[in-house]
Amino acid sequence: MLGGLCVKSFAAFNNGPIGLRSLAAPRPFQLVDQQPGRRSCGENRPRVIPTLASWDPGENEMRRTFGRRNAAAIAAGGVLASLVRSNRARAAVAADMAEPAPGLFVRVGVTEDATAANIDAIANIGFVVGREAVAVIDPGGSLADGLALRAAVLARTSLPIRYVIVTHIHPDHILGSPAFVQDKPVFIGHAALPGAIAERGAFYQTNMHTLLGDDGGAAVMPDRLVATTDTIDLGGRVLELRAHGPAHSGSDLTVMDRATSTLWAADLLFETRVPSLDGSVRGWLRELTALEATQAARVIPGHGPASMPWPDGVADVRRYLQTLAGDVRKVLDSGGELEDAVSVAAQTERGRWQLFDDYNPHNIAHAVHELEWENPL
Ligand SMILES: [Zn+2]
Repeated sequence: MLGGLCVKSFAAFNNGPIGLRSLAAPRPFQLVDQQPGRRSCGENRPRVIPTLASWDPGENEMRRTFGRRNAAAIAAGGVLASLVRSNRARAAVAADMAEPAPGLFVRVGVTEDATAANIDAIANIGFVVGREAVAVIDPGGSLADGLALRAAVLARTSLPIRYVIVTHIHPDHILGSPAFVQDKPVFIGHAALPGAIAERGAFYQTNMHTLLGDDGGAAVMPDRLVATTDTIDLGGRVLELRAHGPAHSGSDLTVMDRATSTLWAADLLFETRVPSLDGSVRGWLRELTALEATQAARVIPGHGPASMPWPDGVADVRRYLQTLAGDVRKVLDSGGELEDAVSVAAQTERGRWQLFDDYNPHNIAHAVHELEWENPL
């Protein structure tokens, strides 16, 4: 166990002591196995825990839609099929939302790993309301989380949810997608997202189903892909979408709301919770530099507060990544290997971040795997 608070079976999800199979960041989920003197995963419950009760978009519509969009996921896990069959009468309680800019709403995720108690509501997710339509930015970490977000939208506007923007592959951002299928939105993602879903979607779905049952959710294949930049118009409110190279993940998308000068950076920016690396440490540093040139009044981080003045937060993430890369390079340059790096890399950052020991070893493994190829030894 890698300092793994609440980790019941680290290896089971990561293919070894420091798995290179998933390196999912945040990890797909962790099961509660509380030990004396250790943090309780469920002690900080989310402010709103939806009591789900309605998954009722119409059975036939669900079959048709999922058949088209997510046949692979159904075949792989059968979870969506059971959702379709269940057709239970449920009602989600609307998530608490902050409104850091007019018409732009953020549900702040808890700084925990996914548990049944927090329904994987651990990422910052939300939506933007224009004159004619709504765009959801990240549908949530589970079906339950997505339904709570959808209820929050419906509590504020009767405008249609025309777009669901998925900022990247990670489960805490994508698995709420099925909650919105009934709205028939255009699902938008990075051009690399379909490949990432094909590779990991069933894995994430199965694990979240183990944690939450039918409320676990699934990834939905995007209808519209962004390879460089794109725009969508919500009616007098244009959102600019930007696809990034491998950084936090391999499918990072950011969103600029020009109307309020708000940059939705998603997981390119972490605050409080230690950044998790699943793309490229060098690439992430490059993307941060490029992103810093963006003019914005505020930023929405993927984890941390509802918003921060821009570019606050960049310096912390950059320092962490530079320290991580620098320390790993030193180990590699001196002939060391992964096990040598794990005990030393980025240790000076320990006191600055929460969940540090849950993620830093993953980040080190990823950085070693990436940076060893630039080392001639
Ligand atoms: Zn992420």
